[in-house]
Amino acid sequence: MSRRADLVNRVAVVAYHSSPLAEPGSGDAGGMSIFVRGLAEALARKGLRTDVFTRRNDDATPVTTVADGVRVIAIDAGPPESLEKDAQLPYLGDFVAGVRAFAASQRLRYDLVHSHYWQSGLAAKRLSTFWDVPLVHSNHTLAKVKNRFLAPGDRPESDRRLQGEAEVIAASDVLAVSTDDELQQLACLYGAPHDRLKTVYPGVDHALFMSGLAPQPTRARLGLTDEATLLYVGRIQPLKGLELAIRSVDELSGAMERDVVLLVVGGASGPAGDAELERLRLLASSLSVDDRVRFLGPQPHSSLPDLYAASDVVVACSHTESFGLAALEAHACGRPVVATAVGGLSHIVADGVTGYLVHERDPSVFAGHLKTLLSDDELRQRFGAAALARSNAFGWDRSADEFLELYECLAAVEHPEFCTC
Ligand code: UDP
Repeated sequence: MSRRADLVNRVAVVAYHSSPLAEPGSGDAGGMSIFVRGLAEALARKGLRTDVFTRRNDDATPVTTVADGVRVIAIDAGPPESLEKDAQLPYLGDFVAGVRAFAASQRLRYDLVHSHYWQSGLAAKRLSTFWDVPLVHSNHTLAKVKNRFLAPGDRPESDRRLQGEAEVIAASDVLAVSTDDELQQLACLYGAPHDRLKTVYPGVDHALFMSGLAPQPTRARLGLTDEATLLYVGRIQPLKGLELAIRSVDELSGAMERDVVLLVVGGASGPAGDAELERLRLLASSLSVDDRVRFLGPQPHSSLPDLYAASDVVVACSHTESFGLAALEAHACGRPVVATAVGGLSHIVADGVTGYLVHERDPSVFAGHLKTLLSDDELRQRFGAAALARSNAFGWDRSADEFLELYECLAAVEHPEFCTC
């Protein structure tokens, strides 16, 4: 896309609680980190400079250049160590002061602020007011939605978060959402005006996630022979609903000619993460499928294409999912996905074409779809090819084009409501 005008040249991105430099898959680093980095790098290829501000949580260097035009700047605010999300809130004021001081010391002028997650939004609100520039905010997840679809044993989101989200929603010029579902949720549950909502689908890095990779080396490394192989990729927390996948493995035991193995890639995340991981291990053992459910822990992002290639079908069982990048990565690697029909998963997976969408959290129904795919090589290959084709509709360059258009529109007109139509 050619740029209409160079009104926006430098953007301040706020990713307060989680650095895009953190390896995703456990703790607070997940899809949002991939989103922030993927978008910033694609915007940089189009000539826009991005500084991503994050709370400093280790001794690493304060300014890291991750690509030409993309820097991650760690701001001192609170102790330089990992903290639970809620424990980071008291340091927002220090963080805002640190960002302002950094911009002043480098004599930088930002044309727009784009924040990710509600705490960042609170900081960004103050920065955009101080610099008098537009504010774009991406929620990634919403407390009211999480509370509505709370998994058994999960903790409801706090009143502080609900209040913070409302503040950020009111202050943002545009709320960028990943799916039309999220748009409806913001409109219906939070009363966000439609003319301030803009859907931009996230992308996937097709240079990393590609089909045709040889499954054998990774299968051999994992000691897999001819087992039918399911894969889950993501953080482990009650919201991700992994119990359904484990119970499905139990359903499939004895129902298939081949043994079935479920690889679980990712680590515990959030206050209930460790307990959930332990509960899932106990569940697998109580169902006597502990030899077939393998918890591999968090894996480097760059190693995931090989893991997708080593699997036959990827599963996603979330109670709610704002987008579901792992499902898209699986498709980009030519793997079908059986998923619960929630949020972005319903948008990524074409039911009966690139995988199956399951409306009930019933292991026999979920397992039935898995069995259909696992026991028919030709069908699985056809679904895999369709999945790959579908993934081509998503790319960070496309997302960046849409964000760039939005940014420039916001900078150009006095009335931002005209920008989202
Ligand atoms: N991921 C990873 N290593 C892991 C587990 C997950 O790199 O061990 C990545 C995965 O590839 C995906 C992201 O973490 O890009 C998870 O994003 P998703 O949208 O599926 O879930 P979220 O983290 O946003 O809840």
